Amino acid sequence: MQETLSAETARPRQRSYTTGIGLAILHLGALLAFLPVFFSWPAVALAVAAFWLCGGLGVALSFHRFLTHRSLKLSRPVEYVAGLLGTLALQGGPIEWVATHRKHHAFTDAAGDPHNIHRGIGWAHVEWLYRANADRLAPDEYARWAPELVNDPYYRFLERFAVPLQLLLAVAFFALGGWPFVIWGIFVRIVVLYHVTWLVNSASHTTGYRSYRTGDRSTNCWWVGIMAFGEGWHNNHHAFPSSARHGLRWFEFDSTWLVIRMLRRLRLAWEIKTPTPEMLARLAVSPAHKQTTSPG
Ligand SMILES: [Zn+2]
Ligand SMILES: [Zn+2]
Repeated sequence: MQETLSAETARPRQRSYTTGIGLAILHLGALLAFLPVFFSWPAVALAVAAFWLCGGLGVALSFHRFLTHRSLKLSRPVEYVAGLLGTLALQGGPIEWVATHRKHHAFTDAAGDPHNIHRGIGWAHVEWLYRANADRLAPDEYARWAPELVNDPYYRFLERFAVPLQLLLAVAFFALGGWPFVIWGIFVRIVVLYHVTWLVNSASHTTGYRSYRTGDRSTNCWWVGIMAFGEGWHNNHHAFPSSARHGLRWFEFDSTWLVIRMLRRLRLAWEIKTPTPEMLARLAVSPAHKQTTSPG
């Protein structure tokens, strides 16, 4: 009998021990922050600043809104600095991140989605990263999903040297403030940002409200919206993926949108895409949501 396999199941990915062990080490390192010997207020301040730089400017602005969805144009210096900050979030290099996220949009909440919510909250949150996952991309598939990045020497450099760059940052932090700076500025900052990013895939595909008909399970979840730099307004995002603005109603606080508006004023960002009133009305689940955005 001839076996027929779909493109997705033809190449089952093995459980990733490297990722699993790496995540375990980072979480154990972060737990050391509870020991008083590693505590200092400057270390906490460093972690908060690095969290915002790597999460807000790096992951939300660069990796997600700029690189994955091309929802705006950025000046080269801003693009390169934000891309480096995203790489320092240690969520995979920019090429892997963008390719994986584009696949999530192509197969949202269905077979082929790398973190399909129908396989459970735990799976969508973190298990998809280290358990056997046929829907996760192999490196030789990145070119199909993110060809322009695979052909860009800067992003290839960031992809290749993501871990050495992190080690370099750790050495710099150690030189500046000893182990408290390393525990808080590297381990705590990375782990907290991991969970904040992962909540977009788990909580914002599970809990919250839906403003737009998207045909998937994406939701607008207010507490993820606040923590994840506006990325938790995820039903809005799946409805209008190329919109640079994710918080669409007046109370949907979107800190990345504030950054984008500031960059626009400084003429460092332009061609910023947002949905038209007609686009909003076409997908609105109820008339109450149709005309609730304020002009950007
Ligand atoms: Zn999603
Ligand atoms: Zn997206």
